[in-house]
Amino acid sequence: MWFRRDLRLNDNPALGAAAFAAAAVGARVVPLFVLDPALTSALTGFRRDYFFATLAALDQQIQTEGEGRLLIKEGNPKELVVQFASDLGATQVFVTGDYSPFGASRDRVVAARLEATGRQLQVVDSPYLHAPGAITKVGGQPYSIFTPYYRKWLARPVPGVESSVAIRFAADDGKSRMPAGFATDSRNVATQLQDFLVAGLSEYGARRNRPDLAGTSRLSAALHFGELHPRTVWAQIQEGTTSGADFLRQLCWRDFYADVMFHRPESAWANVDRRFDAFPWRTEGTTDDFDAWSRGQTGFPFVDAGMRQLLDTGWMHNRSRMVTASFLTKDLQIDWRRGAHWFLQHLTDADVANNSLGWQWTAGTGTDAAPFFRVFNP
Ligand code: FAD
Repeated sequence: MWFRRDLRLNDNPALGAAAFAAAAVGARVVPLFVLDPALTSALTGFRRDYFFATLAALDQQIQTEGEGRLLIKEGNPKELVVQFASDLGATQVFVTGDYSPFGASRDRVVAARLEATGRQLQVVDSPYLHAPGAITKVGGQPYSIFTPYYRKWLARPVPGVESSVAIRFAADDGKSRMPAGFATDSRNVATQLQDFLVAGLSEYGARRNRPDLAGTSRLSAALHFGELHPRTVWAQIQEGTTSGADFLRQLCWRDFYADVMFHRPESAWANVDRRFDAFPWRTEGTTDDFDAWSRGQTGFPFVDAGMRQLLDTGWMHNRSRMVTASFLTKDLQIDWRRGAHWFLQHLTDADVANNSLGWQWTAGTGTDAAPFFRVFNP
């Protein structure tokens, strides 16, 4: 089982499939995580701490529940996973699908190389309620507008939560260790979700646009790293008595943006609306403006509060993300890509699809027909 953005034991169908396949031949599941320098070199600050704490928590769970140990190896997965499977004599490598441009292209290479040695990459499930590519127009074309996608998304049945199974993990090989200095922290995502469902959900619609209140779930990083699957959230909302419609709609944005990026990987850094390729963004003499924006020193208190929240906590409220992104692109007329890059460096929940398409939505270069002249009042 090669873990990537599914750092959990519960409700993990790829892990369930690995356990089933292993049990069928009397083998154990070998839980692997590969620290790919191409990705880990970009991990800094809050995001780095959060990620390694999550990895440490997974390792801890594997020790407690499965009497094994998470094998952490460092290197290029295109070589390492293939070599490791061959050394182990494993015929199948189970993964949760990765639909990001980087992950999808890596997985194509790994699948082909495994195939060449008579092994298989078994892709089970996705980090989304509905995998990218699953929801299309009648003719099979992808949606580019949110609302019709959302209608179809709501009507589509969601698979049930995977029931837990006892898994026999391989014992520690003595060679793999967590990088020093990272321990599990006291964060407990299950409790965080429960607290939100009990105390926050019923007021979510009224409070979600108020950056001065703690009115949102703060689950974005857990969803990004797969400590929590949106299916788990969906199931609990269906069972509850309060309406979760507003909240589910936000989860749908997450699926929608992943779907857009799956069909148009170039939208990570290129305008969805190509007419904006000719837009005259200011470039000369913008260093001071960009620095003031990024440090939260523009003199506009609402913008500065958002940018300082990002630097101080690694998270920013959605409304502040929209206002600060609007300020950079509309007021300062600086290219959205510079702002998107800054966000990716500093957000704990940094996610290429949500971030770049959130920026493009605000800049007016994106999927929905948001006019360029819609400016958030800073
Ligand atoms: P909640 O309001 O509790 O929402 C629940 C979940 O729904 C979130 O955790 C998230 O997974 C999803 N969600 C909510 N709003 C959106 C949205 N507009 N688009 C996509 N998914 C959404 N979100 C990220 O996860 N990573 C990013 O890198 C990111 N960058 C953004 C950049 C800009 C310019 C903008 C405008 C938005 C960005 N968002 C991003 C979306 C959104 O701001 C965050 O998901 C949200 O603020 C996270 O806080 P929460 O978990 O409390 O959200």
